[in-house]
Amino acid sequence: MRLCRFGENRVGMVRDDYVLDVTGALDELPAHRYPLPLADPVIAHLDALRPHFQKHAAKARRLPLSEVELLSPIANPGKIVAAPVNYAKHLEEARTDPDIHHQNQVAEIHRVGVFLKATSSLVGPGQGVAIRHPERRNDHEVELAVIIGKEADRILPGEALDYVAGYCIGLDMTIRGPEERSLRKSIDTFTVLGPWIVTRDEFPAPTAIGLVIKVNGETRQSANTRDLVIGVADLIAYASSFYTLMPGDVLLTGTPEGVGPVRPGDVMEATIDHIGTMTVHVRVADPAQH
Ligand code: MN
Repeated sequence: MRLCRFGENRVGMVRDDYVLDVTGALDELPAHRYPLPLADPVIAHLDALRPHFQKHAAKARRLPLSEVELLSPIANPGKIVAAPVNYAKHLEEARTDPDIHHQNQVAEIHRVGVFLKATSSLVGPGQGVAIRHPERRNDHEVELAVIIGKEADRILPGEALDYVAGYCIGLDMTIRGPEERSLRKSIDTFTVLGPWIVTRDEFPAPTAIGLVIKVNGETRQSANTRDLVIGVADLIAYASSFYTLMPGDVLLTGTPEGVGPVRPGDVMEATIDHIGTMTVHVRVADPAQH
């Protein structure tokens, strides 16, 4: 199943070049009262919703993908976990590029662990990336994004992939500089997920997945998850050894070599095997509302 969110918080199933509007299936979700759960309700109930999505798809409105604004396929992740320097060649480039290397935790992932991005940084491809500090270097980082499907507390690597709901493309946008990663990578719009989730049953084991990003048609990063320092299963197990992963939590698995700056007006096109391609425009952030 390929699930997307689009337009005014609609939920869609993607078939070929079309979106089937299956928003009606969300009527099956339990009503939540304060306090809200620390999990994304759609992902937490994905197995129960699946037959309802199929039922609604049979009589759904069919919209061309090219005509919808794609939102993040996950609406309410409890946390966005991200792996720093998880490809050896990116570690080399980070160590030698003075813009990246500010003696700011540029070290092997085994030493620095993982970090968190604010959930308020999350957008979908149709919303684009808004640059707040155009005088500084703002980089793209393309990454395979893993969506956790069920509570995972101190799980083993051998069982970790059973805890995955699905996969999508992630952009871990980053402003370079001396501040903490959690600040530099949590600017509004600096986490882009899309174009849709491919559920685990339609995705191979994520051990040899190709990923590419082009900026204005020029290839910047092109790599394969077989070169991850810590692979997806080990990364999930590692993160779960510190905190319980919840349904809808996002794990950005790290970016390969070739990171580089983007500027307002640029167009990023990210492609990952078995998922598809998403196009993301870069613009200047709107002025603050005072
Ligand atoms: Mn990253």
